[in-house]
Amino acid sequence: MSWWDLGEGRGYRSYDGDLPLNEVTCGFCGEVGRFGFESRVSKTKPDKSKELHYDVLVCQQCGNLTSVFWGMGNSGLVGIHQVPWPRNTTRWPEHWPDDVGRYWLQAKRSVEASNYDAAALMARSAVQLILRYQEAEGDSLFKEIKDLGSKGILPPIMVDWAHEVREIGNSNAHPMPGASGTLAADALAVVEYLSMLLKIVYDLPHQIAEHRGRKV
Ligand SMILES: [Zn+2]
Repeated sequence: MSWWDLGEGRGYRSYDGDLPLNEVTCGFCGEVGRFGFESRVSKTKPDKSKELHYDVLVCQQCGNLTSVFWGMGNSGLVGIHQVPWPRNTTRWPEHWPDDVGRYWLQAKRSVEASNYDAAALMARSAVQLILRYQEAEGDSLFKEIKDLGSKGILPPIMVDWAHEVREIGNSNAHPMPGASGTLAADALAVVEYLSMLLKIVYDLPHQIAEHRGRKV
């Protein structure tokens, strides 16, 4: 894959043929899409079939600069790389259900802030929500995960892995007086499990659908 392939097959929609600013987040203050242009440079491929762009954006909120390297593919999708990348997680992919995305976002942000009780709780809730969307049957997260395994939605390795993630086995998700805090390792484990679950249940089918629908 060459940099000239940027935007081929996957990327963001552009409605006016230009860089979709709404897909750029300021790495300094987190503002989304409110930028002016400090400079714009583009290079055309020797065979003239494509242009790559090297824009420097200035944030309208905090005034800092972001470099955006982008290109539009044949199908009109735009591939974007930016520096600096936003340090905090601010968004989730559009093909996830909004409530799952919100829980995932809060779990990630809680990890970024070292709030491990909150991270584990949100990640566990997101896992639960995904299992409900998939109409998993069972009276515990384990059983529901196993159910999705038997239906072929989850591979065996995900079912096995669930047994090693302590927060998934934590049947008592309600607060108990005097309970000790969640260990960082346990919180990170359930967030990792959630991330893989999202990949398998939502990202993979989405990517495959995009490839199949692609006109070469
Ligand atoms: Zn900013």
